[in-house]
Amino acid sequence: MTFIPDFRLPSKDAANALWFIYDRGRLLVKIQNDSCAIPETSDLKPYQAALLHKQYLGTLDGRPCYTAEIAGDNLKGMDLEYRDLRALFGKLDENLIWIAGRANQLVNWNQIHQYCGSCGKPTEFKTDERAKICPQCGLTNYPRLSPAVIVAVLKNNKILLGRNKRFKLPFYSVLAGFVEPGENLEQCVKREIREEVGIAVKDIRYFGSQPWPFPDSLMIAFTAEYAGGDIRLDGSEIIDAAWFGKDNLPKIPPKISIARQLIDWFIQKGTRV
Ligand SMILES: [Zn+2]
Repeated sequence: MTFIPDFRLPSKDAANALWFIYDRGRLLVKIQNDSCAIPETSDLKPYQAALLHKQYLGTLDGRPCYTAEIAGDNLKGMDLEYRDLRALFGKLDENLIWIAGRANQLVNWNQIHQYCGSCGKPTEFKTDERAKICPQCGLTNYPRLSPAVIVAVLKNNKILLGRNKRFKLPFYSVLAGFVEPGENLEQCVKREIREEVGIAVKDIRYFGSQPWPFPDSLMIAFTAEYAGGDIRLDGSEIIDAAWFGKDNLPKIPPKISIARQLIDWFIQKGTRV
């Protein structure tokens, strides 16, 4: 599948368009026996008038993709249901998951930028770029992204994994944290690992990146080597952390996440060259 992003609304609606519709963070899907699908224009015919805040996403294999919102109360007696996007991992094609994630970020962004943050006037979508502008004072807001680092720290063929109290499922993962104003990514890696578990790291290397639309993160992944210190929990965010070998790994995150890709890299390689 090939997705080509675009923000400019096509001049007319195509009958085969895909609609990534949200209501309070949940995605509308068509239930087909055991699998799920993204609704098409024909599935939404009775609801056209209820669609709010339409935004164009681009094309998937030539099919236009849109995002919009419909209040769940407006759906009656159809084979359409709202589901948590995370609950659709493995049930919806991964390409569709990522487009749905993109849609989720844009819907959230639009929701919290209905009014100008400077003068309070209702904002409008810009026509020449993906942005919202205030017609009174000209303040322009772009979709918000929150960059975060995520790090596989290695020590003697072991990987540092921790349990964050925010994890809904009881798994251990590589440590992560948001980038703060004024720091570069490497400084952020050092600060986060020091703050969360009291460990110093060195030899920080870029691994890869991934959008994480819950609600608007961009995860930037690194590997690093242990440089000193003993594990000392921060007492708030991380409730447990330890060094794990390949043979005694705890429950780890689902396949789709870059956290899991870092752990899988460790399992395959064990050490860095
Ligand atoms: Zn304004």
